[in-house]
Order: sequence, then structure tokens, then C-alpha cells
Amino acid sequence: MGLTGIQIFKLLPKTNCGECGVPTCLAFAMALASGSAELDACPYVSDEAKEQLAESSAPPVRPLTVGTGDYAVKVGAETVMFRHEKTFVNKPGLAVLVTTEMDDAAVKDKLAKLDKFQYERVGLNLRAEMVAIKDASGSADSFVALVNKVKDASQAALILISNDADALAAGVKACADRKPLIYAATEDTADALGALAKETGCPLAIKSSDGYDGLVALSDKLTGMGVKDLVLDTGARTAKQAFEDHTVIRRAAVKKVFRPLGFPTITFPCEMADNLMDETLLAAMFIAKYAGFIVMSDLEAYSLFPLLLERLNIYTDPQRPMTAEQGIYPIGNPNENSPALVTCNFSLTYFIVSGEVEGSRVPSWLAVVDTEGLSVLTAWAAGKFTGESVGTAINKMGLVDKIAHKNLVIPGYAAAISGELEEELAGWKILVGPREAAHIPKYLKEWKPA
Ligand code: SF4
Repeated sequence: MGLTGIQIFKLLPKTNCGECGVPTCLAFAMALASGSAELDACPYVSDEAKEQLAESSAPPVRPLTVGTGDYAVKVGAETVMFRHEKTFVNKPGLAVLVTTEMDDAAVKDKLAKLDKFQYERVGLNLRAEMVAIKDASGSADSFVALVNKVKDASQAALILISNDADALAAGVKACADRKPLIYAATEDTADALGALAKETGCPLAIKSSDGYDGLVALSDKLTGMGVKDLVLDTGARTAKQAFEDHTVIRRAAVKKVFRPLGFPTITFPCEMADNLMDETLLAAMFIAKYAGFIVMSDLEAYSLFPLLLERLNIYTDPQRPMTAEQGIYPIGNPNENSPALVTCNFSLTYFIVSGEVEGSRVPSWLAVVDTEGLSVLTAWAAGKFTGESVGTAINKMGLVDKIAHKNLVIPGYAAAISGELEEELAGWKILVGPREAAHIPKYLKEWKPA
């Protein structure tokens, strides 16, 4: 169990210097105990205290990373059962399965899809980022050959799957520099694969045929061996049981701070369904509840795109709207005679508006005002998109230096601020633009300074 605020306080320097962002060590201790502060915020904690505190302030689901570079997949660090309680932290990795039974063309096809199906949304690149490589033959040679083939063709994070500890060791050694997930140690292979995980520094999945008790025993054994980065698989391959297992594991970790089950999980929709639609439904469930890694048999746009969007939404902090930076964004190489528009900094609004401006092919200036992530209408209603606040922001950004005509187009939904804004921006003409972003291209094509 974690330490209480008072227990934590006893380990802090008690100088009340305030450098951690709160006025006293006691307040910091309380914040640490509630999980709303990070230990690193205090620069004066002794090493000894750090060790004790790190253990107690560690998130109930251990964070770990599979892969390296751009495709590194960090999972875990979760602290709540439900997203609305705080936030979900690290989105699950999505993997496509390739096996030693597949011919070259089939493997190439899967890797090509992994590469092809990438989507730009709200300034982010959405994609599946992992390949699960399965030894279906028990032959170390063919497994290593497939690992090398995938490794050479893709930077994706890797999950190596084999029932044969020797084949698995050979595969892991062929790509240890890519930090693959080793799948999976069982009661029979825990010693060998635990040693392999320690030697290579790769995370290790564990799978027991003896339910939760077996999983806990394996977890205890491997952490006792010094293997800290574990991934859990209860072995359930039905939707009902796998869902129940994921819920039980998350509850034990988060509500009871039960460390043996405080690890990310892996699940295999590819082994629970015989068609991609059903797999997709299962994966959708496990994105919300509570998988760390999800292995799919195939990637198709109709399946992957909704999963990626769901994952984006579920793993976005509900208390912090996604925002764009306040500033002036040139779109399509505008000059001093180009139209200038203003909008809010809610990410979705910004990307929709900028997309429509770009689509109009009319070079324009887009001024984005900080509305704390609120959309135009909400920001206006909340007093964050007023004539005064927009005028102040426009002056501060120096939009007047970019354009000669001093015309500013405001969103149609914010027409009510036009008079106040004209007063705020002396000498400017405020034009009321369309209400809907979809009408921006037509508006811009016809736009003329007043
Ligand atoms: S920075 Fe450390 S010593 Fe200073 S008030 Fe915060 S907890 Fe106390």
C-alpha cells in the first residue's frame, strides 16, 4: 500500500522552501499521497527517502516501454478505473500479427498495411505501431529469419511470440536493440525467460494456466528475480472472460494497489474471433477496458481508423481540451492583401477551420486566440472570446504588421462581438464570416476588403 501524506511528510526535508510549487512540505506530501504531484518536483529529497517514496508514489500500473524511437510504445502508469475520474494515461499499442506460417507476400502485405494506414487528425499522426511476430513452427531458424525480415522492413515496435524458450531467446537476441516484448514466460519457462529479460533489458509477458493465483505467483517470482517490466496475460480467449480478467486486474492494481497485478496487460482479439469485424469490436472494448497491447490478425482501414479514433478520444485528458498555440498561422503563402480570419484555439476547431481555408486555395492569415481550449460559441458564452479578449490578442500578435487592409473576419457564431471588437481595434473593419466552417471556401473566394 502507498504511504499516507503524514508518512511521506516525515521523509521530506521540511524546509518549506516552496520550490515544488506548493508553499509547504506538508502540502507537497498531501499532493504526493493523492497522486496529484510528482516526486521529481522537490529537488531536495535525499536518495534514501527517494527510494522509499518512489516505491509508494509509483503508479499502481507500472509504466513500461516496448520498442525504440518514433515507434516506442509506452503503456501503463494508469491510476484510475474510469477515464472521467482523472484521465487514462498511455494508450494501448496496436499490433498486427505475422507468423512463420505466412509466405513472404503475406508478411509484406501486413507490413505494407502498417505503413499505409496512417491518418493525420488534430495535428497528430494516428497509426498502429507494433508487429507481433509468432513462431508457429517451433523452429528457431525460421523464427529468427522472420524476426530479421520484419526488423529490416519496419521500425515498428515488436512483440516476439513463441512457446519454445530457445526459439524465443534466439529471436530476442536478433532484435534486442529494438527492445521487443518477450511473450510469454509460463511456469515452465519463467527461469529461462526471466534470465533472458534481465540480460537483454526487454519487457517480459507472463501467462499462467492457473488463473489469477498462477499469474500472481509468476509475477512474484519474476519480480523477485529482478525483472521489473512485466506484461500480464491471463490466457482468456473469450470476450467475456478476457473482459472480466482485465477489469479484475485493473481493479486489483488501482483500488487495492496490489503490486503483483500492477502491470499492463496484453490481449489477442486475433485469437477470439474468426473475422476482422468481430476482432475490431473486441479491440474497441479492450481499448476502453483496459488493455496495454492489442494484437490483431490484420489491418484494414475500416477497422483500424475507428479504433485509432476511439483510442485518441479515450486517451485524451477530459479535463484538458486539446489546444493549438495562440498565434498567427499563414496558410498558402499569404501576403499583405490576403484575408485575415480569427478563431479559437480548440484543436478541433483550429484544424477544421485551417483545413477549410487551405481547401479554398485562397492564401490567408489565420489568427488563433487562446480560449483555453473552448470552441467559439462556448468560449463566447464563457466570456473568453469577447471583443476585448480577441482585440487584445490580435494587437499582441501583431496582425497589423502582416496585412495592409485592416479587415478581420470573425466566426459567424461570434457576430455579437463585432461592435466591441471594432472599438477595441481602432481603425479596423470587422467582417462577420460564415457560421459553419464548410462555408469558408466560398466566403474566401468572394472576399474583398471593405
Ligand atoms: S521543494 Fe521540497 S523542501 Fe521545498 S517545500 Fe517542496 S517539498 Fe519541501
